[in-house]
Amino acid sequence: MRRKLAAGNWKMNGSSEALAELSELAGHHPAPSVDILICPPAPLIHRAAQAISGSSVAIGGQDCHAQSAGAHTGDVSAAMLKDAGATAVIVGHSERRVGHDERNEDVRAKARAAIENGLIAIICLGESLAQREAANTLDIIGGQLSGSVPDLVTGENLVIAYEPIWAIGTGKVPTLAQIGEVHDFIRARLERRFGAGVGRSVRLLYGGSVKPDNASEIFAVPNVDGALVGGASLKAADFSPIISALEAA
Ligand code: PEP
Repeated sequence: MRRKLAAGNWKMNGSSEALAELSELAGHHPAPSVDILICPPAPLIHRAAQAISGSSVAIGGQDCHAQSAGAHTGDVSAAMLKDAGATAVIVGHSERRVGHDERNEDVRAKARAAIENGLIAIICLGESLAQREAANTLDIIGGQLSGSVPDLVTGENLVIAYEPIWAIGTGKVPTLAQIGEVHDFIRARLERRFGAGVGRSVRLLYGGSVKPDNASEIFAVPNVDGALVGGASLKAADFSPIISALEAA
C-alpha cells in the first residue's frame, strides 16, 4: 500500500512572510491520511522546518549537489539540507535539466547523494512538447528513468514525479489517458528493474498545472499516487483543497 504524497515546489518564490502559509496549511490538516511536503527556497528551509516542527507538514529541498562538501560556490549538499531539517529533495526538475544543463548522470549522482544522506529523492522526468508531438514520450521517459535513478532505491527513499515540461506553469494538462499511459509505463519499468516489491512501492507523482479544480480527476488515474505542485502550492488556500482531493481519492 503506497501512502499518497502531496508535494509543493515553491521554486524561487517566498520570503520569511510566506512561512505563515505553512502554519496555516498544517492547521488545515492536523492529521492527514496522506503525506504533505513543501519545498521552499534553500534560505527558508531551516526556518520552515522549525516553524512546522511536530506538524503534519514535512520540508524538502529543490536541488542538491552530488558532493557532500567542497569548493562548489552557491551549491547546497544533501547533508546540509538534512541538517537544516529537510526530509526530501527534488532532483532533476526540468527547470534544472534545461536551465542548468543537468544530464541524467548528474541527476543520478544527486539522487544517490540524497539517499545516502537519509533524504527521500524525488526524481523528476518529463518530455518537451516537441518530443510528445514526435511520439517520443515513452522513449524519453524510459531513458530518463534508467539514466537518472540510482541502484540503491527502495519504496521509502525514492519518489518519481512525471512532469511534462509543456504542462509546467502553463495551465495545459495532458489528457488523463496520457497521464495514465506514462505512469503505467514508469511502474512497469520500475518493476522490471527493481523487482515487484520495490517497483510497486515507489510513489509516482504527476506534476504540471495541478489546481484545485483538476486535482480529483488526476488523482483518480491508476498509478497516480499524488502530485508535485508548483504555483498552486504557494498559498495554503490553494494547496489545501488539492490535499483534500488526494485524501478523498
Ligand atoms: C513544478 O514546477 O514542478 C510544477 C508542476 O509547476 P506548476 O504546478 O506551477 O505547473
